Amino acid sequence: MFRFHTIKDYHASLAAGETSCIQAVDFFLDQINQHQHLNSFLEVFSEEAKLRAVQLDKERAQGKPIGKLHGVVVGIKDVLCYHGHKVSAASKILENYTAVYSATAVQKLLDEGAIIIGRQNCDEFAMGSSNENSAYGPVKNALDTARVPGGSSGGSAVAIQANLCMISLGSDTGGSVRQPADFCGVVGLKPSYGRISRYGLIAYASSFDQIGIFSHSVLDAALVLEVIAGVDEFDSTVSSAPVPEYVNAIEDSSKIIANQLTDEPKRVAYFKETLSHPGLDPEIKKQTEDYLASLVAKGYTVEAIDFSLLSYLVPTYYVLTTAEASSNLSRFDGIKFGHRTQDPIEDLTHLYKKSRTEGFGAEVQRRILLGTFVLSAGYFDAYFTKAQQVRQQLVDLTKDLFGKYDLLVSPTVPSTAFTLGEKRHSATEIFLADIYTVYANLVGIPAISIPLFTHPNGMPFGLQVMSASFNETQLLQAAAAMMDTKNS
Ligand code: GLN
Repeated sequence: MFRFHTIKDYHASLAAGETSCIQAVDFFLDQINQHQHLNSFLEVFSEEAKLRAVQLDKERAQGKPIGKLHGVVVGIKDVLCYHGHKVSAASKILENYTAVYSATAVQKLLDEGAIIIGRQNCDEFAMGSSNENSAYGPVKNALDTARVPGGSSGGSAVAIQANLCMISLGSDTGGSVRQPADFCGVVGLKPSYGRISRYGLIAYASSFDQIGIFSHSVLDAALVLEVIAGVDEFDSTVSSAPVPEYVNAIEDSSKIIANQLTDEPKRVAYFKETLSHPGLDPEIKKQTEDYLASLVAKGYTVEAIDFSLLSYLVPTYYVLTTAEASSNLSRFDGIKFGHRTQDPIEDLTHLYKKSRTEGFGAEVQRRILLGTFVLSAGYFDAYFTKAQQVRQQLVDLTKDLFGKYDLLVSPTVPSTAFTLGEKRHSATEIFLADIYTVYANLVGIPAISIPLFTHPNGMPFGLQVMSASFNETQLLQAAAAMMDTKNS
């Protein structure tokens, strides 16, 4: 039977002739089929995935050079455009929309030999923390189907959790990769803002959005990042900074650790207020504290620092992201593409209103309204300008912080996965799930959630590790070392 551990192992098995790309694809198609009740995939590209696998096997047999992601089976969140394939943002408004070009990240995967197996369910327009906002039904957590997988990239997280593909691409505007990774017990990486091109990613809040990666291991996330990061003439916000060789950096640092030539002890900080927050589950608090103590025993320095702005993070995030969303989503008007009402129409305004009311779900409508409100004359300064000021303060403070420390850590989420429907009616309660993750998006730094812990309730939870902007190398090295010591 086909087994997947890491991309490196898979490539070794391919080279040794022990397996093939078509065997891998058949295995995952079967897995997807057996796990339909999880509602992780909205569409599976079965036939074309098989054809591509056969083609890749043929090329390899002919001795042609193979790409870095040769035969790697990838699922993509339904907000990433893949030429000629449907992309709906899990919304009725884009139900029958077909992408007219591929996202740069998707194209880069394909150029390195990846096989895209399907598109994955998510919260509508990536707005949510539980995947209950999808127009195509909720996704279920594979460990306990009464529980949510987190959101908004819930389908992508569950696809890794339940072994339905090797890698998933999601998007993270305020935690949508890290939070479901935490709830599902997998690795979830959000790179620095501007590390990966956003071209072809359906926009939610453009100054926050970043494509992220779900995987079983830090090494696989590093390899995929290496492939999809980098300059792109179609996205002026993407950085032209060269993409480091993340995989080599991790492998070199683990050799150093194995030889006991331990490099500089890492300076780790955490915000005192994150661990004393009343909403934090006591068991998550305890295990996180114990873990930090174990880092000290390994030679890291771990320091608690004051952070008086914690309670401002979620409000700042929601003011700014809804403002950006209200503008980004104004293009969905039922005129050029997407859903258009079939009702008799009085005038153009009526057509817009009717189409948008029918096409958008409740949460998306709420955010468009909120965003329009905070941008409206008379309220702009009280909300939008103030939130921008808080954001700037956070950026300044972060620059200072990473002058003194290498890493910042926190729990990823204050609770483990909650049950379906539990928080459905309380928007503010569900916003609490974002309390630790929005910070990295507000200031643009990279962050990863690694599945280090298990709660006595049986559910997994993660540690969130953050580093200075564009220092993914250090972040990934540290995360890989932490995962290694967990597994040893
Ligand atoms: N849960 C957050 C929200 O609802 C984050 C979403 C995201 O990162 N796309 O906005």
